[in-house]
Amino acid sequence: MEHNLVLYNTLTRKKEKFVPIHPNLVGMYVCGPTVYSDVHLGNCRTFVSFDLIFRYLVHLGYKVRYVRNITDAGHLEGDNDEGDDKFAKKAKLEKLEPMEIVQKYTLGFHDVLRMFNTIPPSIEPTATGHISEQIEMVQEIMKNGFAYEVNGTVYFDVDKYVKEYNYTILTNRNLEDMLNNTRELGGQDEKKGRLDFALWIKAKPEHIMRWPSPWGVGFPGWHIECSAMSRKYLGDQFDIHGGGMDLAATHHTNEIAQSEACNHTTPAKYWMHTNMLTVNGARMSKSAGNGFLPGELFTGNHPLLNRGYSPMAVRFFMLQAHYRSTLDFSNEALDAADKGYKRLMSAIALLDKIAVSGKSNFGNLEEIKARSYAAMDDDFNSPVLIAELFEVVRIINSLYDGKLTITAADLEALKGYVSDFVFDILGLKDDQVGDVDNMDGLMQILIGIRNEAKKNKDFVTSDSIREKLTEIGIQLKDSKEGTLWNKI
Ligand code: AMP
Ligand code: ZN
Repeated sequence: MEHNLVLYNTLTRKKEKFVPIHPNLVGMYVCGPTVYSDVHLGNCRTFVSFDLIFRYLVHLGYKVRYVRNITDAGHLEGDNDEGDDKFAKKAKLEKLEPMEIVQKYTLGFHDVLRMFNTIPPSIEPTATGHISEQIEMVQEIMKNGFAYEVNGTVYFDVDKYVKEYNYTILTNRNLEDMLNNTRELGGQDEKKGRLDFALWIKAKPEHIMRWPSPWGVGFPGWHIECSAMSRKYLGDQFDIHGGGMDLAATHHTNEIAQSEACNHTTPAKYWMHTNMLTVNGARMSKSAGNGFLPGELFTGNHPLLNRGYSPMAVRFFMLQAHYRSTLDFSNEALDAADKGYKRLMSAIALLDKIAVSGKSNFGNLEEIKARSYAAMDDDFNSPVLIAELFEVVRIINSLYDGKLTITAADLEALKGYVSDFVFDILGLKDDQVGDVDNMDGLMQILIGIRNEAKKNKDFVTSDSIREKLTEIGIQLKDSKEGTLWNKI
């Protein structure tokens, strides 16, 4: 099938046809987590979005090298080289070594992403594992005249850079406005220009994470790691650079500057940014304290949650929104997604029970497939694909009920379609099924018996059903939409 994948490029602010630099090969770099605390659901949304993108590129037949870093050093609290080191602060709080903090939260991050059924990247480099590459890059930037050292700290010279390059290319901001929004330098400041940022930072005596360098003992600035590691594993120029939208203004803007000042070429052809998960309209973030941990969402153990949701229902919730739209968290939206997800899985479970016939009259699978590809080719539009899948759910249910017919060959093709789009591309799996094929159907029977008992004021039976289900890890929740269930 001919594909015409189009994706939105932040760099040009429009949708563009995807043409990789080397035919059939794709290099993709995504900014990974700063591993000083548990990942929250917002972080997960970004990584699930890039998992969808990765999966689809692989499905189209590209050989993808997907690099996603772990930031385990150099990230200060403020984006502008100010504040405490995030790792040192947390290490003090938890009475651990900074590298124990790194290990603990890296493992937690991997556990959570595994639950969301994301495929691990091809390479997951760490900042601490690439100190010499970062030092080398800083040296090259200095040699090219775009950085200067003051008292053991090296700064990127933005004034010098803007004479040759466009510092605001990614965000299209006005440089004057940016300057006006940055605080004026005082006598204490070492840097020459207000927009200058640190490439290498001199370590104070108490700073634990420190390395020798040509400028004395210190540690890398936050932005340089991504430039150095993307260059090492993907080359001076590669296809896709991604991350959350919040990274574009500072982190990615500075990454482009560093790479251009070092390699004389822009690093990525396409810049892709995912939109934010919000809670009541506000961005979910670690610092704002409105971050749900995935574990809390799975168990329902959080004051803002009515109940728990399975990881796949949450993944489905995320995929129902386009990656460039905001996604607002609410119990109602999750309930609706959970219902939709179960409806999809219940229909798929019926595929093995459909009786085949001599002829098919269920519609045209090739057309369904073409529309599904068209959705994904249009900037990875998963909500449109999911709408198409609900049409397929309707068809499967009618085939099962005998209202429509299908031949054995068409049934195999339908199964292949579901396997491609639901399992491989959307990355969903059935986490509802134990030994029972139609778990939701079975649960609806039990919920019906419990409702009947309640209606008859037989609370011994209704309570007993709920308690026994809890014992085997199934939670019931009575709501406006009726009784809902989930695994805990
Ligand atoms: P951090 O660990 O804070 O560096 O963030 C890791 C990734 O999660 C980055 O790509 C961020 O842009 C992204 N991110 C942070 N908060 C959110 C959010 N509320 N919604 C979606 N992505 C987010
Ligand atoms: Zn980065």
